Amino acid sequence: MRPLDLTEKDPSKKITIYFEGKAYEAYEGEKIAVALLANGVYWLTTSTEGRKRGAFYFGPLPMVINGVKNTDGRKTPAKEGMRIERQNYGEFQEDVRIDEEKPLLRYVVDVAVIGAGPAGLGAVLEMQEHLTVALIEERSWLGGDFWLKGIRQEGFDGEPQEVISGMRAKFNQNVRLLLKTSALGVFDEGEYFLIPAVRGNQLIEILAKRVVLATGAVDNILLFENNDMPGVFRRAFALEVMNLWGVAPGRKVAVVGSRPEEMTVELERWGIDYVVVPNPKRAEGKESVERLIDMNGNTYEVDAVIVADGRRPDINPITQAGGRLRFRRGYYMPVLDAYHRIREGIYAAGSAVSIKPHYANYIEGRLAGARILKEFSFDAEPCIYEEKLREYEPEAVPLHRIESGSMNLEDVQICGCDVSLKKVHDAVESGISDLQIIKRLTHLAMGFCQGRFCLFNGALLVSQKTGVDMARIDLPVARPPIKNVRMKAVARRD
Ligand code: ATP
Repeated sequence: MRPLDLTEKDPSKKITIYFEGKAYEAYEGEKIAVALLANGVYWLTTSTEGRKRGAFYFGPLPMVINGVKNTDGRKTPAKEGMRIERQNYGEFQEDVRIDEEKPLLRYVVDVAVIGAGPAGLGAVLEMQEHLTVALIEERSWLGGDFWLKGIRQEGFDGEPQEVISGMRAKFNQNVRLLLKTSALGVFDEGEYFLIPAVRGNQLIEILAKRVVLATGAVDNILLFENNDMPGVFRRAFALEVMNLWGVAPGRKVAVVGSRPEEMTVELERWGIDYVVVPNPKRAEGKESVERLIDMNGNTYEVDAVIVADGRRPDINPITQAGGRLRFRRGYYMPVLDAYHRIREGIYAAGSAVSIKPHYANYIEGRLAGARILKEFSFDAEPCIYEEKLREYEPEAVPLHRIESGSMNLEDVQICGCDVSLKKVHDAVESGISDLQIIKRLTHLAMGFCQGRFCLFNGALLVSQKTGVDMARIDLPVARPPIKNVRMKAVARRD
């Protein structure tokens, strides 16, 4: 087994890849970043400002593969003999080429469900008997965040992957499943909504009478010095490497953030040694994490740091589709009407709405589905789901105090696209409190993630420095495409 393998891999799939000229053992189908991690290789890219970076905290992972630049090593599977080199993060151009020769694929359905986590699946299962449904999911798996969990979750009868496979097995002929397909936005088109989407180099248009946004939540980014260093993981990536790929994030791991218990149970399951550090100040190491120092000056010898700080709803799909937001329980969430809609025809469900257990998100998906069935005059009982959902009070997510006085702000990355906390902090200190202007000046929220991971901390900094309540901060509205593809993909429509 390789140094960080947790499970035996299939020997018939064993291959050799070369990274910076050195040979490493990999397994067919394994993502490049995961294969290198299993070998203990963390440093995979360098920021424009010369900061060493890994694969599992910010943004995509630009790599040169067999001499060709701009491959995302986090998404690309390893192949026999592949020659891989580091590419500078700043040079990366994510190159989604739409094949102009390919005819446009167009699906007309009753309902488009965006996101195939528990909420999206709940909505599909509720509606499929009576309505045609397109289920659009950008990842290659169903189950969203729930699929990443290694242990049973409250409300479901079985291991997460079993539960999801069971749901998939129930899909009938009314369900069109579009995996590895990113929805780029929701637009009004007469009586329909138009959802342009991209799968590989194929442009797809979905026309639907109703839409369910089940687009989930995003991991919270914690601000500490060298938070972008190789060996720092955000929660979803830590769960993915362990539970999907059978690879450990490290041998001795520090868990930081306000939700350590979500991670420690998973680490215990794999027998990975960990320490919980409530107040991290600085990660240090030559090429990757070697130690973590906390605000009290304690030093922890670790080779990885996992940020387990919970999630907040992904507000970009909501604002792009015309929804309004409010601030409650430590996060921005969509304002819903009595029918669970952000506006007429567009429903929202799951952790796109509020932070709660997976099962509650599944129930909320069923609720949205039941509401739509009623709209189409089919029998449905949304109040049963409403009642059930009331048992789950959404969780509050703590707002951290940004300790700008006690950290070297140049070493804290607020945004993976080379935006240090210092840049944003200096802009706010100079009297600028408008996030739109801060965006333009610092490039915060202008890169790959389109603000999904960094905008919240920008708003928090403004709020803490100016005393303006988070509820009153004017958040920039997400513009299409909500996923990072070339505009050409959308502009092609006549
Ligand atoms: P839970 O948070 O409890 O797991 P959920 O269903 O509310 O339940 P997720 O599990 O995070 O939330 O699932 C959301 C899914 O939506 C993810 O699998 C994500 O990949 C997908 N998704 C988000 N935005 C898009 C998009 N624009 N196009 C396609 N899929 C998307």
